[in-house]
Amino acid sequence: MESCDVLVVGAGPAGLTAAIYLSRFRRRVVVLSAGPPRASWIPESHNTPGFPHGVGGVEFLRRLTDQAVGFGVEIREVDVEALRTTEPGFEAVCGDGPIRASAVLLATGVRDHLPDLPGLEAAILRSVVRLCPICDAYEATGQRIAILGDGPLAKREADFLRTYSDDVTVIATCDSDLSFNEASVQWTPRGGLELRTFDHLYIALGCEPQTDLAIACGSRCDDQGNLIVDAHQMTSVDGLYAAGDVVRGLNQIAVATGEAAIAATAIHNRLRQSAPER
Ligand SMILES: Cc1cc2nc3c(=O)[nH]c(=O)nc-3n(C[C@H](O)[C@H](O)[C@H](O)COP(=O)(O)OP(=O)(O)OC[C@H]3O[C@@H](n4cnc5c(N)ncnc54)[C@H](O)[C@@H]3O)c2cc1C
Repeated sequence: MESCDVLVVGAGPAGLTAAIYLSRFRRRVVVLSAGPPRASWIPESHNTPGFPHGVGGVEFLRRLTDQAVGFGVEIREVDVEALRTTEPGFEAVCGDGPIRASAVLLATGVRDHLPDLPGLEAAILRSVVRLCPICDAYEATGQRIAILGDGPLAKREADFLRTYSDDVTVIATCDSDLSFNEASVQWTPRGGLELRTFDHLYIALGCEPQTDLAIACGSRCDDQGNLIVDAHQMTSVDGLYAAGDVVRGLNQIAVATGEAAIAATAIHNRLRQSAPER
C-alpha cells in the first residue's frame, strides 16, 4: 500500500503552507485536495501581509503551489472519501486507492451557506457580493451596504460594518428578525424592501466547517462545529492535526498559514521523536 510521512487534506492556504514547511523538514508529504479552495474566490485581498497593493486569491494560491511543488510536494486533485486510524498512523481512502501516513493534517476549510441567487459566483468575483467584512469592509468605507441574513450573525455583521458606513441595511430572510431594531441600522423583510441600490451585499448566512473526516476518526468539535485543537493544532485524536478555517471562526489567510506553520512543526517534531534521525 502507498505510504508517506504526512498526508495533508486540502490545498488551500493552510494545506499548502503546511506542505511547504513539512517538505523543508524533509518529510515525504502528499497533498490531496478536491474542489476549489475558498481562497480561489477572493477577488483581491488587501489584508494579506506582504502584498501592499493587494493579491487575488488565484494568484496567491498559485504562488503557494509553486513554492510547495518546488520543494518536492506532491499535490493530487482527489477527494478523500474516508479517513481511519490504524496501528500506527492513519489510512485515507480516495479514488487513487488507500494511502497510509504516520500523521495527517486536515486543512479542509468551510462550506459557505449561500442564497440561491442567479449570478452569485460572478458577483462575488467582482466584489459586489461579499462574504467577510473582516477581509474587505475597509474597501466599502462610506458606501451603501446591505446585509442578507438572520438573527445574531446579521446583527453582529451590521454592528461591525457601522465602523465603515452610516448606510447599512439588513435584509432579513425571515419575519422573526424584525424584532431587532437597531437605532442606526435599517432592518427590513426580504420581500418588503422598496427598490434601492446598494454598492455591496454582504451574505451573513454562516458556514459549515468540513469536519466529517475528523469526526469519523473520533475528533471533538465545539458548539459552533469547529474542530477543537490543542496549542500545537492537534485534534483530540493523537496524530491528527487541523489548521485553517476548519478550526476557528476567524476565517483568515494569516490565521490559516500561522496555524499551518504551528501544526507542521509539531508534526515534524513528533515524527522525529518516534523515529531515528535521518
Ligand atoms: C469571497 C472571499 C473573500 C475573502 N477574502 C479574504 C481576504 O481578503 N483576506 C483573508 O485573509 N481571507 C479572505 N477570505 C477567507 C480565506 O479565503 C480563507 O480564510 C482561507 O481560504 C482558508 O484557507 P484554508 O486552507 O483553511 O481553506 P480553503 O481555502 O477553503 O481550502 C480547503 C480545501 O480543502 C478541500 N477539501 C475539503 N474536504 C476535502 C476532502 N474530503 N478531500 C479533498 N479535499 C477536500 C476543499 O475543497 C478546499 O479546496 C475570503 C474568503 C472568501 C470566500
